[in-house]
Amino acid sequence: MIDLHTHSNVSDGTDTPRALINKAHSAGITVLALTDHDTTGGWDEATQYLRPGMDLVLGAEISCQTPEGVSVHMLGLLFDRENEPLASAMAQTRENRIGRMERIIGRMNENGIEITIEDVYAQLSEGGTLGRPHLADALIAKGYAKSRDEIFADWLHNNSKYYIAHYSPTPEEAIALIKGAGGVAVIAHPLASLRGRTVSLDSFSSYIEAGMDGIEISHRDHSPEGQEILNSVVKEFDLIPTGSSDYHGDGKLNQLAENQTDPSAWERLQAKAAHGRVIRL
Ligand code: AMP
Ligand code: ZN
Ligand code: FE
Ligand code: FE
Repeated sequence: MIDLHTHSNVSDGTDTPRALINKAHSAGITVLALTDHDTTGGWDEATQYLRPGMDLVLGAEISCQTPEGVSVHMLGLLFDRENEPLASAMAQTRENRIGRMERIIGRMNENGIEITIEDVYAQLSEGGTLGRPHLADALIAKGYAKSRDEIFADWLHNNSKYYIAHYSPTPEEAIALIKGAGGVAVIAHPLASLRGRTVSLDSFSSYIEAGMDGIEISHRDHSPEGQEILNSVVKEFDLIPTGSSDYHGDGKLNQLAENQTDPSAWERLQAKAAHGRVIRL
């Protein structure tokens, strides 16, 4: 079982990297990618607690934004975390997320919602990537709602009056950064329309030109029709299809390995990585 996209509490998942490894091992996963948002901060702990019989794929999910303001997530796998351009782009995104959170909180305060940046930090692990889910958790702790889903539906979705974007590279820039660091680039859930606007298929040619290796197709936020369309894109442009859970612990309903990557696709993807190899005991 190959699951190439999961989150720990080093971003907006709720399991520590160690707990994530243990749960993946119990679930029978043989290849697990750790892809926290805009950070490699969980890599060492995941590596330290790796279990026998499991390959660990170190990666990150890079937040991107198109010039038109559409949010895109780009999975980078098997890259060199010491690579300066990529590391500093992720650091810039993380830094910018702080000011962005303060502005979102300011808007909420103006509308009578009582929440502070300290409340939000209380929901985030030390050094982790700050995101809207932590604000949701803080609002839940204050009794404003019962679940992240509820808060996102009411207040935190991308078309909400409280929504503010943060600095992000464009998808093309992110792909170039990942490839420049020796990794492979896979666009995450490109047709997940519930989250807001999605990129049109026309933009894929520009991503392919930038070096994109694959498309995450098998994902719970994709309809069967959407997956069919993406499968034809993958065939037409000789890209690599992946599948994943996008597991966030208790932060989402997604269960580990609920969607998976085909072993032959994973072989092809690995062969494209110039820097990294999987971690194995
Ligand atoms: P941000 O990176 O701060 O813009 O927040 C986006 C994150 O919120 C993404 O990683 C999503 O996984 C998460 N998210 C989006 N919608 C929901 C939802 N309805 N419930 C829980 N998490 C969500
Ligand atoms: Zn997330
Ligand atoms: Fe994502
Ligand atoms: Fe994700």
